[in-house]
Amino acid sequence: MNTSDASDVTLHPNPADAADATKAGIVHIGIGAFHRAHQAVYTDVAMAAKGGNWRIIGVSLRSTDIVDALNAQNGTFTLIERHPDGPKARKITSISHAIAAARDIAPVLDALADPAIRIVTITVTEKAYGIDRVSGTVQTEHPAVKHDLANPDTPCGLLGLLVAGLKRRKDAGVRAYTVVSCDNLPSNGRLLRAGVIDFAKHLDPDLAIWITNNVSFPETMVDRITPAATAATRSDAKHLTGLDDPAAIETEPFSQWVIEDAFSDGRPAWEEGGAILVADVEPYERMKLRMLNGSHSLIAYMGQLGGYRYVRDAMASDAFSRLVTLHMENAASTMPPLAGIDFSDYGADLVARFANREIAHETNQIAMDGTEKLPQRIFAPACDLPPGSTRLGTFALCFAAWLAVMHHRINADKTSEVAQQLNDPRADEIISALGDHQDPAVIYEKLAHLPGWMPQQLQDDGVWRSAVIARLSLLMSEGADAALKRELAI
Ligand code: NAD
Repeated sequence: MNTSDASDVTLHPNPADAADATKAGIVHIGIGAFHRAHQAVYTDVAMAAKGGNWRIIGVSLRSTDIVDALNAQNGTFTLIERHPDGPKARKITSISHAIAAARDIAPVLDALADPAIRIVTITVTEKAYGIDRVSGTVQTEHPAVKHDLANPDTPCGLLGLLVAGLKRRKDAGVRAYTVVSCDNLPSNGRLLRAGVIDFAKHLDPDLAIWITNNVSFPETMVDRITPAATAATRSDAKHLTGLDDPAAIETEPFSQWVIEDAFSDGRPAWEEGGAILVADVEPYERMKLRMLNGSHSLIAYMGQLGGYRYVRDAMASDAFSRLVTLHMENAASTMPPLAGIDFSDYGADLVARFANREIAHETNQIAMDGTEKLPQRIFAPACDLPPGSTRLGTFALCFAAWLAVMHHRINADKTSEVAQQLNDPRADEIISALGDHQDPAVIYEKLAHLPGWMPQQLQDDGVWRSAVIARLSLLMSEGADAALKRELAI
């Protein structure tokens, strides 16, 4: 373990510290692990480089422990970055203080109404939104939405809080804050905007119009693998800093934040921390899906077949790592160039992240829900390849590996609950379509044509069909290692 950083880390700064001299400009709702490893760090760097009254008031909607832990140490905490050569500690000072909404909602509403607050950022997990993903309307039976529609002055959920805060500002003639979702929801800004406006319409149509005309909801793409803190996190923090820190958090060295630059009342210089401010986040979302998530699926299914429990173990094999690099090159070829991004560097970073011995990410976990994930990760980029492209191979291999995993799990253990083993929302359909079939061509036919799944373009493509069946045959007859070597022509 690297202990060399211990001497320059101090946790409890006195009020004369430079960062303490600045005032709060951001309210963050959902002050969990990810916020502390991501937005709090970008804001820390931005204020150190460019100043500005951008300290963060952290709001916890549920838990009180993290609020007490942060407030006991003036909002500061230790961030541990798990580098391949050992952990390193950083002191983060961007949080001003924290509020437990479950104890008292009044100080949260006061903070939201304060003209000094110009941005509200959010990480409350996907299920906390209470917004229908397709229609963008509020789910009136969602417990927090239901409560807040009935009690708009004492809200307990995300939509209720955002709207109550905006109402106070409208009534007081104060400019609206910008609302920035940092949750992993597709088109998170657009979705939240639709939900907030719909929620306001239920209460006050004029408020809904004011929000429509005055509030900006930038889209974001966020990326930094941040597990929940454990006893090991706190023990490493103590070892590295010499101080007990119950608010310590651990994460990987890599971090990415792409933000639509649409702020109605200014923002911190987050670019100083490496954030990319753009007019359109969608191409960056697509890059993440095709390169990061697509490679993850390839590693997951080939890893399951090859007997690798963790991503890092698969990546320790030279051939496997070469396969992943090849797939990233193939995926990158399906996208036009992107400002501020070199696809080769992004791919090389991903390979290093996947190989990080300090991060234990299970292939089984990534393998779940394949019918939800493969369309945007594998099918969509495969459709964007030019006809006859030699780059089709790794996409076909990933789909063949998924088919082989489904076939293997259905056939492996007839005694246990098969649907549970498949770990897929369409497990029952997969089981009944596959039956006892053992012929790779039949397995392909049975699963490729599940309703509303594989795009018609691929269903009609004989080259794709042959490429998948050839790889599935090899996987079933000779195993993952042989299929991997064939793909790499070694
Ligand atoms: P966490 O469990 O540490 O924190 C989640 C926060 O959301 C907590 O403040 C919790 O109180 C609150 N919350 C949870 N359920 C809620 C509910 N039903 N209603 C209101 N508040 C609720 O999790 P985290 O690691 O901080 O991740 C939070 C979100 O951040 C993820 O769901 C995801 O959207 C995004 N994210 C996380 C990571 C990561 O690696 N952890 C990476 C990218 C994006």
